[in-house]
Amino acid sequence: MNNQRKKISIIAPIYNESEGIGYFYNALCELFAQRPELDFEVVCIDDGSHDDSLNKLIAITERDLRFHVIELSRNFGKEAALTAGIDAATGDAVIPIDADLQDPPELILEMINEWVLGAEVILARRMDRSCDSFLKRKSAEIFYAFHNQLSSIQIPENVGDFRLMDRVVIDALKQLPEQHRFMKGLFAWVGFKTVTLDYVRNPRLAGTTKFSGWRLWNFALEGITSFSAVPLKFWSYVGGIGALSTGVYALYIISKTLWFGVEIPGYASLLVALLFFGSLQLISVGMLGEYIGRIYMETKHRPVYLIRKHYGQQQ
Ligand code: UDP
Ligand code: MG
Repeated sequence: MNNQRKKISIIAPIYNESEGIGYFYNALCELFAQRPELDFEVVCIDDGSHDDSLNKLIAITERDLRFHVIELSRNFGKEAALTAGIDAATGDAVIPIDADLQDPPELILEMINEWVLGAEVILARRMDRSCDSFLKRKSAEIFYAFHNQLSSIQIPENVGDFRLMDRVVIDALKQLPEQHRFMKGLFAWVGFKTVTLDYVRNPRLAGTTKFSGWRLWNFALEGITSFSAVPLKFWSYVGGIGALSTGVYALYIISKTLWFGVEIPGYASLLVALLFFGSLQLISVGMLGEYIGRIYMETKHRPVYLIRKHYGQQQ
C-alpha cells in the first residue's frame, strides 16, 4: 500500500428507512471521526422509497460532502441497489451496509485494520442471530446447507452483504454481466484473499424488515438457480429410477398374470401411482420453468437498475 490517502466507500441500499436515517448518519460520522487519516464517501441508494427517506438523504448531502445519493427510478430490490452502489463507488475499498444499523458500523474499523494488513475481502459473520425470528434463522440454515450441497460455489453461512471488499474485488464484480444478481453468490464466486470477523447482529433500530417470507423464498430460489444446475439434472435421475422400478414392477405383474391368471386389484393403488407421478412431472416442469424464466429475463439484457437522479457532489 502506498502513502496516498486511502478512500473507503460505504454503500447503503435504502428502502423506506426514514425513521432510521438520522441514527445511521450519526453512527457513520462518529466512526469516520475515529480514522481521520482516511477519506470516506457514503453512497446511499434510494431504492424507490415511498416515505421521506429521499428528502432526508438529500438534506444530508447538502450539509455533508461525503454523502451522495443515487435515486433509482423505482424499487428494484436490494440486490440491484447494491449493484448501483458498487458501480458508483470510487473508493479503494467498498463496504455495503444495511441502513437499519443491524450491521454494526463499529465493525468497519476492524475490517479496515484487516484490510490494511493485506486482506482483500473481510467478511462479517453473525455469531448470534437471536434477534432474527426462529423461522428466519432456521430457513436460512436450511438454505445454506441446501445451496452449498448443490452448488460448487460455497456461500459462507451467516454472512450477509456486510463486508469489506478491496478495489480489485470490486473491479472483478463489475465484470459479471448477469441481470439476476444474487449478490452473496457473486461475492463468493469472485474469491480473493478472505478474512472473517465475528459480530453479534443487533435488532433493527427503527422501521420494519422489507423481506417477507414469500420474498425470502424467492430470494432462496434465485440463489440456488443462479449457482447450480443440479435441480435440473435431478429429475433425469428421478425419471431413470422411476422407469427402472416401473420395468421391474411390469415384469412382476406379467409373470404373476402368467402363473396365476388375471386378478382384479383395487383402484386405490393405481390412483396413488398416477397422482404421484403426475405431480412429479408437474414439479419437474415447474423446475424447468424456473430456469427458462431466468434465461428469458437474462436474454433481454435489460439494465439491472435505472437511475432517476444523483444528489451530492458529483464524483
Ligand atoms: N432494501 C432495499 N430494497 C429493498 C429491500 C430492502 O434497498 O427492496 C434495503 C433496506 O432498506 C435495508 C437493507 O436493504 O437497508 C436490508 O433490508 P432489511 O433490513 O429489510 O432486511 P433484513 O435485515 O430484515 O434481512
Ligand atoms: Mg435489517
